[in-house]
Amino acid sequence: MSSSTSDRRLSELWSCVTLDEASSLIDSTSSPFSLQNFVGGQYIAPPDSLTSSSQHITSFEPKTGRPIYTLPCTQPHAVEAAIKAAKAAFPSWSKTARAERSAILWKVSELLQQNKEVFAIWESIDQGKTLDRARVEVDRAISNFSYFSTFILHEQTAARMVDGVALTYEHRSPAGVFALISPWNMPLYLLTWKIAPCLAFGCTAVAKPSEVTSMTAFLLGDIFQKAGVPPGVINIIFGDGATTGAALVASPLINGVSFTGGTQTGIAIRRLTAHQIGKHLSLELGGKNPTLVFEDSMVPSVRERTIRVAAMAAFENQGEICLCGSRIYVEKSVYNDFVRDFTAYVREKYVLKQTVGAVASLQHCDKIRRYLELAAEQKATFHLGGAPPTLNEDEAQGYWIEPTILTDVAKNSAIQIDEIFGPVVTITPFDNEQEAIQLANDSEYGLAAILLTTDGARMRRVGEQLEAGLVWVNCWLVRELGTPFGGMKNSGTGREGGEHSRDVFTVVRTLHLPAY
Ligand code: NDP
Repeated sequence: MSSSTSDRRLSELWSCVTLDEASSLIDSTSSPFSLQNFVGGQYIAPPDSLTSSSQHITSFEPKTGRPIYTLPCTQPHAVEAAIKAAKAAFPSWSKTARAERSAILWKVSELLQQNKEVFAIWESIDQGKTLDRARVEVDRAISNFSYFSTFILHEQTAARMVDGVALTYEHRSPAGVFALISPWNMPLYLLTWKIAPCLAFGCTAVAKPSEVTSMTAFLLGDIFQKAGVPPGVINIIFGDGATTGAALVASPLINGVSFTGGTQTGIAIRRLTAHQIGKHLSLELGGKNPTLVFEDSMVPSVRERTIRVAAMAAFENQGEICLCGSRIYVEKSVYNDFVRDFTAYVREKYVLKQTVGAVASLQHCDKIRRYLELAAEQKATFHLGGAPPTLNEDEAQGYWIEPTILTDVAKNSAIQIDEIFGPVVTITPFDNEQEAIQLANDSEYGLAAILLTTDGARMRRVGEQLEAGLVWVNCWLVRELGTPFGGMKNSGTGREGGEHSRDVFTVVRTLHLPAY
């Protein structure tokens, strides 16, 4: 595709200001839009050697199953070229004054704000989420840039005295070139959660979104160009994990990897980089998070909140959030009441195609359906879901799964153990606090937990025993970007957010100066 053709098609994407317009654009094009890598500050057409169909991937719209775009499956030599562009940009960017870096990244946040609706529309089309949900995530992407662009203006460092002998202080410098790899569930939000701090702390990067959801990452290149991010500071390449992702993380030119995705991929990345001891690794991985509902949280004054928080934690974004509470445990004395009220609430508020979108891909949809078949075989009780959804002609090939509420699921069933990552929740009774903690912690994962109780002492007593990097009490998904974000056990290693992101993207050396 010539550059003027690609410019015209890019401007067509930007011109869509409603979902209907974007949908018509997809319908009106004879061949799917083809995404291009953004390297060295410009979009580049794949070289002729990449034009064979086996080196392109087609991405499908989850709500309809129709093809929307193709992306190059970037091969190792082209990955290397992107890394070299980032490497070449590092000396200058790492020495750019904080105020200047800050101003450029602030500009990125402004441009995202100005184009917020376009990003939300394409995110909704590409990922399957509702437009409202996409808007929330674009807001968060904007905050990622505004937060880190100002954070770097107020940094402090630690100094210590060794009495009469020395003054020591910590000096930080940017760690180098990073691989930034993100999953398909919150594409723009999670990719910018990495790009913003990486660039703010003076590193350069090659970013790779999931092959399933690459559209908003593609649009981001244009934003970086317009904001004046120097060429090579951020490069965005497309492709699958096995080819493009693996070549990226394994390259000896890469100084660090910030990865969000599944636990098995995290293990693969650890293996790929095991011999590069000094490589920074931040791994944000899977979860199978518990929600604990105590009797005191079902008293009339707070019952509505308890149900609302538990439902939101289970079904927001079709359950495709790593922090979703997909195992609900309820104190036996209020178990029947909870199941009844929770089911009624979800039936009313989480309506397929209105507040619940399609799941991200056919492969993922099939995986969730297999778990639901297993639940039926194992004689679990379906309080909601389980039947094929009612779809119109356009949606018939889409990836739709009704919100599903299950009880009577065996403790050792795969449904209770595995991360399903869809609109499926199990509810199980418990007898007492100790049993609740034991059930909550009985998982290989340790990302998040939700605690619903009005007992102040219990909030701390239970909260401090839960094996989870994030514990929410009577709320969920509340985020302050300085708080440490990350998981325990097989949910990951390292923390990101505020100064924790600084630890990921900088190296620290301690200087000892004589006291006199
Ligand atoms: P994957 O682990 O399959 O993929 C994540 C990213 O890694 C994708 O860009 C993928 O590329 C890439 N990738 C795959 N294999 C490799 C490899 N060998 N080397 C380098 N990169 C690779 O996760 P999903 O996309 O399926 O996302 C869902 C998972 O993400 C869930 O487990 C969820 O819990 C987790 N997650 C964790 C969060 C957290 O903060 N802890 C937040 C959100 C999600 P491609 O897809 O193109 O193959």
